[in-house]
Amino acid sequence: MKRVILVAAVVAASVCFVSCKDTQITMEVTSSSEDTYASDAETAAAESAAAESEVTTPSAPAEPVLEFSGDPQDIMNIGEDSYYEGENYVLFVAAGSVLTGDTPAKISEVMDSLEELYGLSYSYKGNVHEDDWRTRYFSGSFTGINRDMSKASILIIPDPHDDSIEWTYGNEVLLHDTTLSVEHGYYDGLYHELAHLLRLRQSNMLGSVMEEGVALYAQDRLSRENDYPNWSMLQYVTYGGYVSMYDDSVIYDDPEGEFIRASLAERSGAQTDYQYGFRFVMFLMENYGTDIISKISVKAREYDLSSLESVSPDEKDMRTVVEIIKSCTEDDVFAKFVKWLPSGWEAYCREYVKYIERFSDM
Ligand SMILES: [Zn+2]
Repeated sequence: MKRVILVAAVVAASVCFVSCKDTQITMEVTSSSEDTYASDAETAAAESAAAESEVTTPSAPAEPVLEFSGDPQDIMNIGEDSYYEGENYVLFVAAGSVLTGDTPAKISEVMDSLEELYGLSYSYKGNVHEDDWRTRYFSGSFTGINRDMSKASILIIPDPHDDSIEWTYGNEVLLHDTTLSVEHGYYDGLYHELAHLLRLRQSNMLGSVMEEGVALYAQDRLSRENDYPNWSMLQYVTYGGYVSMYDDSVIYDDPEGEFIRASLAERSGAQTDYQYGFRFVMFLMENYGTDIISKISVKAREYDLSSLESVSPDEKDMRTVVEIIKSCTEDDVFAKFVKWLPSGWEAYCREYVKYIERFSDM
């Protein structure tokens, strides 16, 4: 079965709310189209070195362990594929990446914030699986590390500076090294992808509306809490002079049907799953308690929703997700969502625009 992976929302570190680069597409894990960076000379050298060391010392392949100073001013040029083991994650860093000395502290801080926000724990591993990332990105190294997936696997590669994407799948997050720099994107991708991973570890997938909603809500909340200029959220907002590319009147017409359709739809320029999901998860969090995502995840463990992990999700499984959400909230949760939208969503848009415009003058 071909599986979907969840990719980062647009990271736009400028006032770009209409013509933002649209990277919100579905990728198949088996696709190798984004592997253009894997053929560079450094990787090839690392590959041949790894192959050589495997021949001479087949029983003890000692992958280099990274040491971090903790100092954000320290710039580390990673010379060979290396790893670092944190409390609840393992960083696998490809040769050529550039990191700062405080990278583990930053990642731990983001993961702690996400766990606190949703009342979930990375230590739970309800639905973990892995693809062939060890060979796709690291020439087959790290074969013995985090094999039981007890920790999150965070893969870091040099930013290819092309249209390739960051993603989350099973137990892995792939990030470009620049995502870990404040200058580049204020950790947008870090919040987004690590939120995906936290949710995915709890249960089978809930469809792209719910999954993207959980990631976007966390991305927005935590970047504002840290006073980062999260310009990328502008694409969701209609307020003042800003107009979202999404016409949410489709939600008013048929909220439950649209929830299902948006999860089943091919990703398009309208970004229906992201747009619906961001609003809906905000509504759930504000009206049913901050443990609502946890409750829904626990309930979902009782069902087989495997088609939702494929590129052709089954409508029947989405109907089951609707029933799960209702059983954790109320039967009329979608009607209540429509009632909340004009006041609740507009309040967010107003607050967000006020927040983000402060950065225009800086
Ligand atoms: Zn996403």
